[in-house]
Amino acid sequence: MSENKKVSEIFGEYVFNDSVMKERLPKKAYQKLRQVMAEGGELDPATADIIAHEMKEWAIEQGATHYTHWFQPLTGVTAEKHDSFITAPDDEGHVLMSFSGKELIKGEPDASSFPSGGLRATCEARGYTAWDCTSYAFVRHDAAGATLCIPTAFCSYTGEALDQKTPLLRSMQAVNEQSLRLLRLFGNTTSKKVIPSVGPEQEYFLVDREKYLKRKDLIYTGRTLFGSMPAKGQEMDDHYFGAIRPRIAAFMKDVNEELWKMGVPAKTQHNEVAPAQHELAPIYETCNIAVDHNHLVMEVLKKKANEHGLQCLLHEKPFDGVNGSGKHNNWSITTDDGINMLDPGKTPHENLQFLLVLTCILKAVDRHADLIRESASNVGNDHRLGANEAPPAIISVFLGNQLDDVIGQLCSTGVATHSLEGEVLDTGVDILPEFMKDATDRNRTSPFAFTGNKFEFRMVGSQDSISMPNVVLNTIVAEAFKEACDELEASEDFDGTLHDLIKRQAIEHQRIIFNGDGYSEGWVEEAERRGLPNIHSMVDAIPTLTTDKAIKLFEEFGVFTKAELESRAEVLYENYAKSINIEARAMINISSKTLIPAIIKYITSLADSINSVKAAGCDAVSVQTDLLNESSALLTEARDALAMLEEVTDKGKAMAEGREQAVYYHDVVFEAMAALRAPIDKLEIIVDKKMWPFPSYGDLIYEV
Ligand code: ADP
Ligand code: MG
Repeated sequence: MSENKKVSEIFGEYVFNDSVMKERLPKKAYQKLRQVMAEGGELDPATADIIAHEMKEWAIEQGATHYTHWFQPLTGVTAEKHDSFITAPDDEGHVLMSFSGKELIKGEPDASSFPSGGLRATCEARGYTAWDCTSYAFVRHDAAGATLCIPTAFCSYTGEALDQKTPLLRSMQAVNEQSLRLLRLFGNTTSKKVIPSVGPEQEYFLVDREKYLKRKDLIYTGRTLFGSMPAKGQEMDDHYFGAIRPRIAAFMKDVNEELWKMGVPAKTQHNEVAPAQHELAPIYETCNIAVDHNHLVMEVLKKKANEHGLQCLLHEKPFDGVNGSGKHNNWSITTDDGINMLDPGKTPHENLQFLLVLTCILKAVDRHADLIRESASNVGNDHRLGANEAPPAIISVFLGNQLDDVIGQLCSTGVATHSLEGEVLDTGVDILPEFMKDATDRNRTSPFAFTGNKFEFRMVGSQDSISMPNVVLNTIVAEAFKEACDELEASEDFDGTLHDLIKRQAIEHQRIIFNGDGYSEGWVEEAERRGLPNIHSMVDAIPTLTTDKAIKLFEEFGVFTKAELESRAEVLYENYAKSINIEARAMINISSKTLIPAIIKYITSLADSINSVKAAGCDAVSVQTDLLNESSALLTEARDALAMLEEVTDKGKAMAEGREQAVYYHDVVFEAMAALRAPIDKLEIIVDKKMWPFPSYGDLIYEV
C-alpha cells in the first residue's frame, strides 16, 4: 500500500458503512436505519435529519465539499448532479455546511434530458431520485475534489422507473417473497429474507493512451472502426493467465486499492484470452450492491488507466477479429441466515428442495430464454452474440455430468436414486497432494452454466449495466417459484405433488439443457430442432420486452408496467440508431479526412517511383505497378462505399425515431459500414506503415 497500510485498514475507508454508522449515529437512529434496511419502510423525518447530519460531518472529514445523488438512468452510465453543502451566506458573509434529511432522501434532478422513451414529455420534466439505503453512501475522490455519493433510484413524477435500479429492487422483492414461500413449504421457519447474490467478472482491454488518442474511432465510439488483425493473433493462447507485466501490475495495484477503499471487494485479476485483455472479479454481494459496485469498477478502471498513461476499453468488441469482452454474471439466491438455495449438497438426488429449485430455474430459463437474451443485448454485444464469431446467441443451460445425470434419471424413471461422485484427481506425481475432483467439469462455451452453487450467465456485455440481466433472472425465477408454491400449497399430498412436479418440470424443460460445445455449428441446428430461440441482434431482441408473455410476467410481480416496458423498448431503439449513426459518421469523417488522403499519398508515391525508375531507363517496375493497380482498385471501392455510406446515413438520420429507424440502421447502415471497412482494411496491409495515419492493431495490443 502506498502508506504501507494493511488492506484490512483501508477497506471501506471511503464508505459510510455499518461500522461508521454504528460508531457515529445515536443508537435509536442506527437501529431505525438498520430496520428500514432489513425490512423496508420509511425513515421518519427526524431520523433522516440525524443520519444526514452525521453523514455530512463524516464526508467533510474525508474532504468532501459536495454531495450527489448517484443514479443509473437508461443511458447505460451513471449520472450525478453535484450540490455543495454550503448554505446561503449570512449577514456577515459566513456560510455553514448543511445537509438535511430531505436532501438525503429525495433529489429532484431535471429529468427531461434523460431518456424516458416517451414516458415523460419534456414539459413534465419532474423526476425524483430516492435514496437506496441498502447500498452504502461513499465518498469519491477525483479532480473535482471529494464528493459524497448517495446511491439512488430515479423515477418520474408519476412513479415510473426511469432507471436501472428501481426495477432491480422490485425484482429482488419478488424473488424474496416467492423464495420464502418455497422455503416455508420445506419446513424452514427461521430465514427472514432471501437475497439474490451476484458476482460479476469484468473483462476489459488496456492500450497505451498516447496511441489511443491517435485513434479517433476509439475516442468517439469505444471501438476500432478500421484495422486488420496483425500476423500474430491470439491463436497461441499465450496471454491467457500469463504473467502480468509490470506496467499493468502497477495499474492493477492502484485499481484494487481504490476499489477496496470504496468498499468494493475486488478479489481476482488475471490476463484474459486476447493480448492486452484482462479481467477483474470482486467477491459476490447482494444484487443491487453488486450492480452499483460494478459501475464503480468500470469507473475506477477508466480513471486509474489514465493515471498510468493507459486507456481502458470497456467496449464489447474493440478490435475486430480479436476476442471480445464480456461480463460473467454469477447469480445465486441465499437466505439471510446463509442457506444457498442453489447448493445441491453432496447427494443432489436426495435433496428435494434443491431439485425443485433447479427444475423451476430450468422452467424459467426455457420459458423466458428470449428475455434473458434481450437482457444481454446492447449495441456492442451485437459483435459478440450471434454475429460471425462464437458463441451463438442461443440460451441453453449447462448442468454438468452430475446434475445432468440426476435430471436424466428423473426424466426416464421419475425418481433419482443416485448421484455421480467426484473422483480422486490422479496427477501421477507423488509429491502433489491428492484431492477430490468436482463431480462436474466446466464448459466455457455455455451461456448459462451451473458452477457448483450458482449460475453463471456469460452473455452480458462488458460495458453494460448488469442490472437488467438480474432483473430478468430474479423475476422469472420468482414466477416459477410462485407457480410451484401455488400447486404445492393447494395439495393435500405434499410429497406426491412435489415428486410429480419435479418430474414434470424436468421432462418439460429438458430441452434447454445442453452440455456439449456451444460454439459448434451442429448446436445451432440442434437448437433449432429443439425449438430454442436464436435471436441474432439487439434490434431483434427488443420486441421480446413487450410480448404478452413479458408484460404478464413483469406486471404480475410489479417489476415493470406495460408502459415502462414500452418506454424501455423505445429507449433501446433510439439508443441503437444513435450509436450506429455515431459510428457511421465517425467512419465517414475518418475515411474522408484521414485515410483516403493517406492512401492517395501512397499511391502517388508509387506512381512517382514508377516514373523515376522508368526515367532512369529501367523497366523493372512490375511490383510497383501491381501494387498501384491493386491499391487504386481498392481506393475506388472505398470511395464508392463511402458515398453509399453517406447516403444511407443521411437517410437514416432523417427517419422518425423508433423501431423502423433502428432496423434500418441495422440492416442498411451497418452493412454499408462493413462495405467501407473491407477495402480500407485491405489497403492498410498494402500501404507503407510509415504512411498509415494512426497506430495499427499490432501497435495497440502488443505494445502496451
Ligand atoms: P468461477 O471460477 O466459477 O468463475 P470464481 O470463484 O472465480 O468462480 O467466482 C467468480 C465470481 O462468482 C466471483 O465474483 C465470485 O465471488 C462469484 N461467486 C462465487 N460464489 C457465488 C455465489 N454463491 N453466488 C453468486 N456469486 C458467486
Ligand atoms: Mg467464471
